[in-house]
Amino acid sequence: MKIPFNRPYITGKETKYISQAVKFGQLSGDGFFTKKCNQWLVNKIGCQGALLTHSGTAALEMAAILADIRPGDEVIMPSFTFTSTANAFVLRGAIPVFIDIRPDTLNLDERQLKKAITKKTKAIVPVHYAGIGCEMETIMKIAKEYNLLVIEDAAHALSSMYNNKPLGSFGHFAIISFHETKNIHCGEGGALLINDKNYMERAEIIREKGTNRSKFFRGEVNKYSWVDIGSSFLPSEINAAFLWAQMTSEYLIRSSRLDIWEQYHAMFKEPEADRILRRPVIPRNCRHNAHMYYILVATHRKRALVLKHLRDKGYQAIFHYVPLHNSKAGLKFSRSVGKLSNTLDISKRIIRLPLWIGLRKKEIRKMADLALMTLEQ
Ligand SMILES: *Cc1c(COP(=O)(O)O)cnc(C)c1O
Repeated sequence: MKIPFNRPYITGKETKYISQAVKFGQLSGDGFFTKKCNQWLVNKIGCQGALLTHSGTAALEMAAILADIRPGDEVIMPSFTFTSTANAFVLRGAIPVFIDIRPDTLNLDERQLKKAITKKTKAIVPVHYAGIGCEMETIMKIAKEYNLLVIEDAAHALSSMYNNKPLGSFGHFAIISFHETKNIHCGEGGALLINDKNYMERAEIIREKGTNRSKFFRGEVNKYSWVDIGSSFLPSEINAAFLWAQMTSEYLIRSSRLDIWEQYHAMFKEPEADRILRRPVIPRNCRHNAHMYYILVATHRKRALVLKHLRDKGYQAIFHYVPLHNSKAGLKFSRSVGKLSNTLDISKRIIRLPLWIGLRKKEIRKMADLALMTLEQ
């Protein structure tokens, strides 16, 4: 029997809503379901505005345009992240400036921020790894002091909280991903969240191929035309209908995932006390959404062994990220500040375990046992 790393959850309501969208007869973007999804995000996160996009990557690219990132500008971010975090800014001619992560949460280390800031710095992009919040209070304070924009990469972090406030509501902008590997999804999808009303109008224009079509549809102008740069960042109504089904079950999905997360966490409690591995750290002021369960093992060699033993038995555990700063493109387009020793160390020792709804307790036990057997050798 094979246990995949991820199995996208289906609520059962997706096809019903897609049929409805077909019946309504508007299948391009910004119809009934897109509006419902946008509103759900605004209510859930408490942001000023939310715009569905066709991916989290697209939302990052929109954010980079909206932030008016220009050639030579610098954008500070962790190297321990997905390529899109950096790519979106490189596409605007900017230079990603990588700093190290904290050893506890694996999030951007806010203590490394100030020394990475130069005259060219335009923005900071904190990534809430595994849906666990970055130190947003410090990050926002530094951003204010140096007049920088903050773009939260909240791709993992829908419904996670920091200081009792949803992630995605702190930065000037934030992005969410609805890729099928994320908690709720529509295959490929995303959203741009906006926390400063002044950016709302331009965001709509950028998303609508540089036109003021959104204003036209609301009857605010009597024709629409090309007013700015932009691209097509809208998802179709079919995707939005699918996503709406997932949104209406978001609490249930999160609870089921938390249940699995807690099972792993309990099974690895004693081994952590025995210093066989390290479990995720959730700071007191954070509430996470069970996006991911990972363990940190002692050495790179041990990790290879655990992954191999799990795979031999049909369990697809994985690792990530290959640090961006010394990747082929990273060397070409970016620079780093400091040695990034936590990034290098952790990326060699992290193991991500399967976490999806329907994964049975028996299988979770089996994976934990297999991992522990290998680690105790
Ligand atoms: C998933 C992800 C994204 C965006 O991914 P899409 O597949 O484009 O939706 C961005 N940043 C991080 C950290 C991610 O994990």
